[in-house]
Amino acid sequence: MGVGIGVSSFVFEDGTVDSTYGFMDFMEDYPLKEIIEKTHHLPCKIDNDARLVALGEALYRKGKGFERVLVLTLGTGLGIGFVVNQKLNEQLPFAHMGGHISISQTGDPCYCGKIGCLESLVSATGILKAAEKLHWQEKNPNSPFTVESIFKAAYAGHADAKQIVDAFLTYLKMGISNYINLYAPDRIILGGGVAKGLKNYLPILQEITYLGPYKKYKTSIELSELEEHSGILGSASLFIV
Ligand SMILES: [Zn+2]
Repeated sequence: MGVGIGVSSFVFEDGTVDSTYGFMDFMEDYPLKEIIEKTHHLPCKIDNDARLVALGEALYRKGKGFERVLVLTLGTGLGIGFVVNQKLNEQLPFAHMGGHISISQTGDPCYCGKIGCLESLVSATGILKAAEKLHWQEKNPNSPFTVESIFKAAYAGHADAKQIVDAFLTYLKMGISNYINLYAPDRIILGGGVAKGLKNYLPILQEITYLGPYKKYKTSIELSELEEHSGILGSASLFIV
């Protein structure tokens, strides 16, 4: 029926890409949609990758049956997608930089220029940066320098790892409670590479304190099971929703 593609940038309705601060410079003014359509004789639709991850989750897995599904993709950065009644909440990805809500007054500046952006604290990049500050690699030469191994070490009681993960969980819970005030999701799904290591910590994240929009408001937090497949399913579903 067609070819759906997700890119980590702002994408206009006609499929042209705004590279947004240089993430995808090579895509700017590149006629990807036109080339795909000519080469494959199929229509092509392009959208922001985090939005398509959210669409995949909302339609096919952990977001199924929920009205307002917020998906946070914790990878190199922090991607945001919001789906209401099985549809993306906005025509265009206006809020795709929503990971840059500032939640701390201290720390290194984010690449956006602000201090304490949620993205710079809970992304894989942020976690590894925190580990570098504690000289993780020099102290643990036999442990792979990955987010997953830091999470595992923390669960086993490793002091440095615990410090990193405790800070991460505090920041993530603060971020989620802020997003609850903005989006009022009835389902929150955490995906991306970082979420793969979060299984043991899900009960801690689920203890989040928040102020709902009305008294009986309830939300739930789950981890993605679809992992990389959610973006593929979401891209394909551009043709069915
Ligand atoms: Zn920022």
